[in-house]
Amino acid sequence: MATRLIDRLEDDRFHDECGVFGVFRNSGASALVALGLHALQHRGQEAAGIVAADRGRFRVERHLGLVSDSFTRPEVMERLKGSAAIGHTRYSTTGEPALHNVQPLFAETAMGGFAVAHNGNLTNAQTLRLKLRESGSIFQSTSDTEVLIHLLATSTKSSFIERFVDAIRQVEGAFALVALTDGMMVGCRDALGIRPLLIGDFEGSFVLASETCALDIIGARYVRDVEPGELVIISDDGLQSFRPFPPVPSRFCVFEYVYFARPDSSVAGRNVYDVRTRIGAELAREAPAPADVVVPVPDSGTPAAIGYAQASALPFELGIIRNHYVGRTFIEPSDQIRHMGVKLKHNANKAVLAGKRVVLVDDSIVRGTTSLKIVEMVRDAGAAEVHMRIASPPTTDSCFYGVDTPEKSKLIASRMSVEELARYIKVDSLAFLSIDGLYRAAGEQRRNSDSPQYCDACFTGEYPTPLTDRGVRRPVAQLSFLENAG
Ligand code: SF4
Repeated sequence: MATRLIDRLEDDRFHDECGVFGVFRNSGASALVALGLHALQHRGQEAAGIVAADRGRFRVERHLGLVSDSFTRPEVMERLKGSAAIGHTRYSTTGEPALHNVQPLFAETAMGGFAVAHNGNLTNAQTLRLKLRESGSIFQSTSDTEVLIHLLATSTKSSFIERFVDAIRQVEGAFALVALTDGMMVGCRDALGIRPLLIGDFEGSFVLASETCALDIIGARYVRDVEPGELVIISDDGLQSFRPFPPVPSRFCVFEYVYFARPDSSVAGRNVYDVRTRIGAELAREAPAPADVVVPVPDSGTPAAIGYAQASALPFELGIIRNHYVGRTFIEPSDQIRHMGVKLKHNANKAVLAGKRVVLVDDSIVRGTTSLKIVEMVRDAGAAEVHMRIASPPTTDSCFYGVDTPEKSKLIASRMSVEELARYIKVDSLAFLSIDGLYRAAGEQRRNSDSPQYCDACFTGEYPTPLTDRGVRRPVAQLSFLENAG
């Protein structure tokens, strides 16, 4: 009998791969990091890890499961002594969900202990890995992040900072990194700033975090973003800023606003909830529907549905209720339960839907499987008409920047026109937000496709970095770490 992650297969969404968090110079650093990671749980639910540094000694705890599964256990937290700590939540894409791929990764290098946690994906990691293997590097994981450790360890530069810069100048793709040495915490974003990373202050201690919601949970003050292409070195001397890359216009991931980031966060200078409600308002202007009620597909469609309802002066109702207590793993007894995946998570509220013309608002359509089942559920509950409105443009292309996406051929919008898709999911009408509407909601007028302000490649196919590894085979680990399963 097979065990599988049923909600991963049935949950038809793009998934952000990771969240990162770090605290420097605080006696409760690891406990603060555990709280920060808990707030970033939406950025990765498969595994979490914390590395703490204590006067030259590093302590590593990496565990499969949710942050609260392991980092609430006193024996785990007691082992994480130290006044600096970094942590990571993971949703695997590159590298299978195994303990040896859980971050932060840690290595003893010639420069001393070095731990690193990464949100993003290096698009030339496999190519670099093959070169490093040829020159003798032995890899212990299949994670792209390990390439950074080998580049740093084999660099011929003399100081840690020079070696770090040497390493990050060789990688391509998206990275928001936090790293820890004995005496330094490091934060860095790729030149385009595709993934978020920001600086906070907690009672005089420096904090690095993927999103502001992770600052809020510990009561830290937002200071500023780590700028695209910026490297910050935090030590007892304070914060030093470096610019290791030639300046280029930034390309923050616009999907962070559509779905990934938590709505109570602000990323790249904008409040996510605010952008999402404006997305809904843009959608209502672009694609009005003859309807009685606006219903979100919870939770991700909710802010856009609120914006749609406000802009169209239609009532907003919770016509679908989400079960928040769905476990992550299920024994798969038969095909029957496989098709129940959507019902495990969502149920129609007949009292709201019966006899109504419904505008159903969701954030995106990926494979189309969930939309099909949700529309069927809404019709079974007695809806007279179903008009589907999607709070993003059609997702026609895969993401290579740290987001779990199916290959292009599995993205239903890459194979079907909007009309075909409407027939497939059996709705009375279907409309997606335009790319210009998405930019307007994010406060911008989209520049031409040579230099738009955001990464929007999953909607346009216009990737802002080289995709050097396309077609290169996935790696295998050469050695196994001693794993602290817990
Ligand atoms: Fe974000 Fe899409 Fe770009 Fe990936 S391809 S970084 S999901 S906008």
